Amino acid sequence: MGLFTTPIKNLDDLFLHTLQDIYYAEKQITKALPMMIEKAQNPALKQGFTSHLHETEQQVTRLEQVFAALNQQPKGVTCEAIDGIIKEAKQVVSDVEDPAVRDVALATSAQAVEHYEIARYGSLVALANQLGHHQVVKLLQQTLEEEKAADRKLTQISESHVNKKAA
Ligand code: FE
Ligand code: ZN
Ligand code: FE
Ligand code: FE
Repeated sequence: MGLFTTPIKNLDDLFLHTLQDIYYAEKQITKALPMMIEKAQNPALKQGFTSHLHETEQQVTRLEQVFAALNQQPKGVTCEAIDGIIKEAKQVVSDVEDPAVRDVALATSAQAVEHYEIARYGSLVALANQLGHHQVVKLLQQTLEEEKAADRKLTQISESHVNKKAA
């Protein structure tokens, strides 16, 4: 446990911590996506990032609804994991010169983000069910499905356009 962090004593604390973690992460993602949109050359990739930015903004709002349903103030806690994934994405993208290869780097970095989110929302759905917070399961499940769809779309774009051009 860190010096300034809240102790996690039970599953409810862990659930709340994980919500705060993903709330922070979603906000960082909304800040990172404009860079991804700007750097993407492939129109399908650019469009995919743009629509996922809008979706992500709605996911932030949805998390605020989850906090409200649990009588909690929306609050974020620093997530080292998402900070690391975003930092790595920025580094890799700036190291690539060929635009077609950069598109693949953007797509693979974005998939690391989606997989992180899928892990978090998957755990949150499971914890919400276990703890009997049935009123928030649907909200969390909805975002989980969006993240899975975003991941599938990135695979599709990579396979159909981006990788071929970069090869
Ligand atoms: Fe998200
Ligand atoms: Zn995290
Ligand atoms: Fe974290
Ligand atoms: Fe996402």
